[in-house]
Amino acid sequence: MARGARLAVQRLDTRALVCGRHPLGEADLIVRLFTEEGGMVSVVARGARRASRRFASLEPMHSLTVRVELPSVRELGNLVEASVDRPRLGIMASLATLDAAGHALRWVRDAAAPRAREPMMWRELNELLDALDGIPAVLERGVGGATSLLVAFGMRLLVLGGWALELDRCVRCGKPCPTDARVVVHIAAGGVVCRACDGSAATSGASPQRHVVLRGEERRWLVACACGEEFPTAGPRAFDVGLALIDEALRLHSRGDAT
Ligand SMILES: [Zn+2]
Repeated sequence: MARGARLAVQRLDTRALVCGRHPLGEADLIVRLFTEEGGMVSVVARGARRASRRFASLEPMHSLTVRVELPSVRELGNLVEASVDRPRLGIMASLATLDAAGHALRWVRDAAAPRAREPMMWRELNELLDALDGIPAVLERGVGGATSLLVAFGMRLLVLGGWALELDRCVRCGKPCPTDARVVVHIAAGGVVCRACDGSAATSGASPQRHVVLRGEERRWLVACACGEEFPTAGPRAFDVGLALIDEALRLHSRGDAT
């Protein structure tokens, strides 16, 4: 770092969630933190891979209180202190909740812009983690279970990121989707493409593996999730297609090749 740049270092005390960790050299870790006050930041935790009481708490799932020093956006910051603010040991108790929490944290890592405060994303991610922390094991697969909560969060994340999928009408001609009919979602096009418009999509080079077929009740459940509303009648297939839809939409956006 250039000497003059030291003046620009910002110190931040904030709550944070660990969204990723990578080894750096012999003893250090690069940690991706989603922070309440500073959005997504990448910091170096010096000595974190040696026995270090200071950084004993660098686990995902728990809310941390951290002090970070942040130079310019392009440079790695420095993790000064970290402690657990809100432990979530319930998430660790089952593979389903652990998977769902890990999936959500990866989505946020891909969706959140660096150093941009995201208060709604922060709130809804913490609500999801709290819900997963308190979930009874018997509910893992059903509505209200880990995967359904994850998909509901993912649909909200697309809205908050500005990439909401249009699932109420055709993105090309605007024709409303019939209530119970199957529809085809072209993820790169941003939503449903009706049968009449599908022919023109094929000639414009949309690739078929980016299409997802939704049944009526699945589509209505996903629309309700995106609005943050309850709609309890979707079946297990809705969770699988929802996951596929959100995974692909975020993959496209993090690569920057969707419209
Ligand atoms: Zn159409």
